[in-house]
Amino acid sequence: MSYPKIKVNKKKLKSNVESVVGLCEENGMNVAGVTKVFCGNPELASIYIDGGVEYLADSRIQNLIKLKNFDITKMIMRIPMQSEIEDIVRYADISFNSEKETIKMISEESVKQEKIHGIVMMIDLGDLREGYFNEEELLSDAEEIVKYEGIKLVGLAVNMACFGGVIPKESTIERLVNLSERLEKRCNIELDIISGGNSATLYLMDNLKSHGMTTMRLGEALILGTEPSCEKQLPGTVNDTFILEAEIIEIKEKPSVPIGKIGKDAFGNIPSFEDKGIRKRIICGIGKQDVDYDTMFPIDGKINILGGSSDHLVLDATDSDIDYKVGDIVTFRLEYVSILRAMTSEYVTKEFI
Ligand SMILES: *Cc1c(COP(=O)(O)O)cnc(C)c1O
Repeated sequence: MSYPKIKVNKKKLKSNVESVVGLCEENGMNVAGVTKVFCGNPELASIYIDGGVEYLADSRIQNLIKLKNFDITKMIMRIPMQSEIEDIVRYADISFNSEKETIKMISEESVKQEKIHGIVMMIDLGDLREGYFNEEELLSDAEEIVKYEGIKLVGLAVNMACFGGVIPKESTIERLVNLSERLEKRCNIELDIISGGNSATLYLMDNLKSHGMTTMRLGEALILGTEPSCEKQLPGTVNDTFILEAEIIEIKEKPSVPIGKIGKDAFGNIPSFEDKGIRKRIICGIGKQDVDYDTMFPIDGKINILGGSSDHLVLDATDSDIDYKVGDIVTFRLEYVSILRAMTSEYVTKEFI
């Protein structure tokens, strides 16, 4: 098989999922396993299911279409585009929403497809990505949509730590649960799903049970076992489920500062360099089209990533104890953005071991 290659350790992934699902269940919550980071790959999604997730969730309907044969409730978490509603109703059981007009269209399409589609309403509690900002508007829209045919209002959700980087607090969850109670009263319904967020909410775990949250939506915590708000490794998890292998195409001794007047690099930035003299530089056949250099870490800790462009990764291997040769493979541990990009890139071979 050809390089570059991303290798996923299925045993480690399963063990991560089991540990995190167990942690959530101990606290009275179930888990929506978020599949977008691996583009809805069915083989990896089946590990989520084996590990005990209650739902599969994704932002892109194309990914849920890949998962259509799994007998599990599927959620589309990105607010639907009006142009994709037919597929949303066909391939997702539940969608997250913040626009009454769109919900109306979902209702009409559900009636046409003879389905009952679940609606989760989104509230924005300060991160300023998606969701109603005005609670009263959410409640009055809710009162109206419960009358629509073909849909059922099943939940309320908030998303944090995405656009604004706002770290969810206990009071965030209290506001969410409080609003859910008001919504239930106003509409005279009971909600199944009260979902206070993504992996960044996990650090509040010990305090969540008493608050009445039902569902965590987790991607990063399942694949890497990390909890972004505190950058903590969750108990019973590992962070090296995804490993990247890249092949060396050139090794040369070169100066550490480019020669000539420095203008813009391939991505329009003006780079700066520290003069460390002549260094042993390695080029691997992989680039920013396939990975993100800030979220990949050489397993050989004595290698440094110098940078690169769309298709070339430049490393400094001067201090390494390993005598690398052209054709050898350099391995990297990956974090979220690099996993997302490598799984998306058609130039990266995917291997599940
Ligand atoms: C991506 C996403 C998640 C999962 O985020 P992680 O940080 O990977 O846990 C949860 N909710 C929404 C709305 C998302 O878009």
